[in-house]
Amino acid sequence: MVSKSACGRYPDCPHCHSGHTVRWGTARGVPRYRCKSCKHTFNVLTNTPLAHLRYKKRWLTYLGTMVEKKGIRESAAACSVSVATSSRWHRRFLDCSSSQRIKILGTIIGTSSTQALVSLSETAANAELSCWRELLLVILSWI
Ligand SMILES: [Zn+2]
Repeated sequence: MVSKSACGRYPDCPHCHSGHTVRWGTARGVPRYRCKSCKHTFNVLTNTPLAHLRYKKRWLTYLGTMVEKKGIRESAAACSVSVATSSRWHRRFLDCSSSQRIKILGTIIGTSSTQALVSLSETAANAELSCWRELLLVILSWI
């Protein structure tokens, strides 16, 4: 029998690597999954350097400042987080492997596009478009 994750629909379990996973709601804006083999729940950030970090909606801005090679303090100011948080994020983002980066960007885009659906006016749509342009630049430089 072919499981859904074998078709690429759901990620494999990061705990036991089983492909028998199902969608299990959402936790803090990120899709959650449950493994039918070991019964653990997880999201794409489980077992990555970014697991348990907060303020996901500011990660994209943060990545942008990293791409621009801004200092820890400047990045902190741009994202309205403390210097300690900024320096922790800097280390964690650098620690991500390239396959983790791709999964994480997917999550960040998922979080951002929910906001895009809310804005319907033309001005907002244009702002959204330039935001996506910036986003693509960030993605291309980070991967
Ligand atoms: Zn499992």
